[in-house]
Amino acid sequence: MRDLVHLAQELENWRNAGTYQSLTILNSEQGSQVEIGNQPSIQLSSNNYLGLTSHPAMKQAAIEAIEEWGVGTGSVRTIAGTFSLHEQLEHELASFKQTEAALVFQSGFTANVGVLASILDERDVVISDELNHASIIDGIRLTKAAKRIYRHVDLGDLERALQENQQARIRLVVTDGVFSMDGDIAPLPEIVEQCEKYGAIIMVDDAHASGVLGRQGRGTVDHFGLHGRVAIQVGTLSKAIGVLGGYVAGSQHLREYLIHRARPFLFSTSHPPSVTASCLKAIQLLQTEEHHIEKLWENTAFFKQGLLQLGFDIGVSKTPITPIMIGNEALAVQMSARLFKEGVYAKAIVYPTVSRGNARIRTIVTAQHSIEELEKGIEMFAKVGKELEII
Ligand code: PMP
Repeated sequence: MRDLVHLAQELENWRNAGTYQSLTILNSEQGSQVEIGNQPSIQLSSNNYLGLTSHPAMKQAAIEAIEEWGVGTGSVRTIAGTFSLHEQLEHELASFKQTEAALVFQSGFTANVGVLASILDERDVVISDELNHASIIDGIRLTKAAKRIYRHVDLGDLERALQENQQARIRLVVTDGVFSMDGDIAPLPEIVEQCEKYGAIIMVDDAHASGVLGRQGRGTVDHFGLHGRVAIQVGTLSKAIGVLGGYVAGSQHLREYLIHRARPFLFSTSHPPSVTASCLKAIQLLQTEEHHIEKLWENTAFFKQGLLQLGFDIGVSKTPITPIMIGNEALAVQMSARLFKEGVYAKAIVYPTVSRGNARIRTIVTAQHSIEELEKGIEMFAKVGKELEII
C-alpha cells in the first residue's frame, strides 16, 4: 500500500523545530481546574467564560431533554430534524439579540461558512478584516463574490475598500466583534458609520462577545448601542454559553433564505435535544444570574494587572482574552510546557492559528476562577517567564 509518507516527514520537521504540540487530554469536566494526565492544573485556556459547561441547571436541562426527547434527532433540520425545542431556542436568541429572527447552526464555524457561502454571488464583494476568524476566511473562499481584505481595524483601508467597490451590487463588510487571538474589540460604531455612508451591509461575528460584552452578554452590537444597524450577527453557543453550536441573528427573510440555501444547515444533522435544551437554559441564566459576567470582568482585570506588573506584553487586549506575546514559536511551546509542569495549563498558539513570528500563550480567565487560583497562575508566569528570560 502506498502511504502518505510526506505527512510523516512534515511531522518530523515540526518536532525538530520544537513546534509540534500533542493534543491535551482532559480527564475531568471543564472548570477552573482540570485534570490532565493525573495532574490537577489551573485551566487558563478554555473558552468557558462563565463556567456554564458544568452549571447544575445546565446539566439538569440536558438530562431532562434526553429523558423526554431522546439523544438524537435522526435528520437534518429541513427534512425531519426540527423539534419544537430548536424553534424555541431560535425565538429566545432573536429576542435576546433584539432581531426579528435567528437560525441555529451546528457550530459557530458552520454558521459563518453557511452565511458567507450562500448569500452573495458574482455581482457582490465581501470586505473582510485581515484578522477575522478562520471560519470567515473559509466562508469567503466558498463564495462566488469578489473579496477584498482590509488591514486590521484600519478604518482608512476599509474606506478605500468601500470606495473601490461602489459598482458591486452588494458590499458586505465582515468583522469579528472581539478578535479571538488578540482580544481587541472591533471599532463597530465607526465601521457602521462608514458602511452607512457607502451603503454597505455589515456582518459581525460575536463568538467571543456573546455572554461577555453588552447588557447580560448580548454582544458587541448591544455594547455599542447599535441595534437595528447591523444586518447579520453571528454568535456561538460553544464558548460563554457553554455547550455547542452557532447562530445567525437578523431579519426574517435572512433566516428563511438560509434555511433554503445554507449548505451546513441543509446537509448536516441537527443538534441533539440535550444540546438545544441546555443552550436555552444558558440564555435564561444570562438574564437571571448576572453575577457570572460581573465576576468574569473582575477576574479579567485582576489577572491582566498581575501580568502587566510583571512586565509581560499582553498586546492590545480589551477583553478576557489575554495573550502573552512571545514571538518565537519554539519558545512559546517551551513556556507552555514549563507552565504545565508548575500546574498551570496555558496553551501556546503558533502558526497557522496566528501568523509566523507572532506566537503567544493565549489565556482566558473565567468567572469560575478564584483569586487564589489566579494568584498562583500569575506567580507561575513570573517564575517561568524569568527562567526563560521573557521578562
Ligand atoms: N468565530 C470566532 C471568532 C471564533 O473564535 C470561533 C471559535 N474558535 C468561531 C467563530 C467558531 O465557533 P465554534 O467553536 O462554535 O465553531
